[in-house]
Amino acid sequence: MNNSEIINDSMTSKEMLDILVAKNMEDARQAKKSGGLVCWSSSIAPCEFCEAMGIYTVYPENHVVGIAARKGAPELLAYAEQKGYNNDICGYARANLAYMDVQKCISEEMPLPDVVLLCNNICDTLLKWYENIAYTLNVPLLLVDVPFNHEDEVTQANVDYVKDQFAEIIRQLENLTGRPFDYEKFGEVMKVASQNANDWYDATALCSAVPSPLSGFDMFNYMALIVCMRGRPECGMTFRKLKSELEEKIKNKEGGLRGAEEKYRIMWDGIACWPYLSHTYKVLKGYGANMVGSTYPSAWALRYTPGNLEEMARAYTSMGNNISLKGQIDLRKNIITETRCDGVVMHLNRSCKNCDFLQYEIGQELQRSLGIPITTFDGDQADPRNYSKAQYETRIQALVEVMEQKKQNG
Ligand code: SF4
Repeated sequence: MNNSEIINDSMTSKEMLDILVAKNMEDARQAKKSGGLVCWSSSIAPCEFCEAMGIYTVYPENHVVGIAARKGAPELLAYAEQKGYNNDICGYARANLAYMDVQKCISEEMPLPDVVLLCNNICDTLLKWYENIAYTLNVPLLLVDVPFNHEDEVTQANVDYVKDQFAEIIRQLENLTGRPFDYEKFGEVMKVASQNANDWYDATALCSAVPSPLSGFDMFNYMALIVCMRGRPECGMTFRKLKSELEEKIKNKEGGLRGAEEKYRIMWDGIACWPYLSHTYKVLKGYGANMVGSTYPSAWALRYTPGNLEEMARAYTSMGNNISLKGQIDLRKNIITETRCDGVVMHLNRSCKNCDFLQYEIGQELQRSLGIPITTFDGDQADPRNYSKAQYETRIQALVEVMEQKKQNG
């Protein structure tokens, strides 16, 4: 039975999500047991190639999210540090490299890979992380090397460089599977993946309604599908259902903060603080502050015309982490304006240097050009040692006071 058959339109999008997430890793384990190939992939790599060749793909970053949210990361982080990985290295990398050795965790067990795929369009930590996996497990490494876009435009030279690497990925996959590349399936997967990207963006863009029918913290849950199943039809089916539910809520003026009125609208900058997801959400909710803006909707809005490899290369090259400082500022300005945010919360995430190092300048420019209040807090996407509940609470309290003052001043 394929996954499209285990969900149907009579279900809510939440029911579909729960079923698909539970089945995703189980399918990977079954694939491995029955002799199929499993790939570990970075979160915004071109899934289209492995999907076309029937290679079951799972996502270490998403796997660590499940572990960190269940508060199971410390054991893995300690193991990695004991092995010599500095605790300044990304927590996703440390926890995953430890998992690769111990193959035990508080969350779902993820089968070891036969191949790894990475695209460094989100950061270069991934390069060393995935090289390390490939070297340790002696499995092939499929690499889409994406240069950083230092200029304000994504250059044609960068797009050509990325597109030219697709032929090498195809050659490596043919070697690995012993079969010719399935161009017909590849065409179908491209259609599905680009439609899913549209469906994801269309559903999450409804956060611009006032009140927003969706809390950004609920959006974090749906993200699992766009990360892990972007090449599969059931992913889009769930987002289309979510969109219709949100449209209904907009009609009824129903907000996404369950049990609380939306008084303030904030943009969240950075990755969620997974070990303290509930705390970060509840403190905001206590003030009626709803997270309506984030960079996540656009991060997976990888839009291209199916069949057009150049557009596909451009989409993977242009994603938000890989663009110039000006591009990153403009991206956030658009989000803040479109979703009508009153304030910004910046997660100074110790794990993710690529995000952190730009935040100070991005914040200064947002304050200067939009006059929007901004607060920051120290945290980590996986390592609970880097977060203080008291600091978060006082920073949010201060932000709310400024947002309230601005409202009163009109
Ligand atoms: S969290 Fe940051 S450092 Fe870690 S893999 Fe993602 S982008 Fe890279």
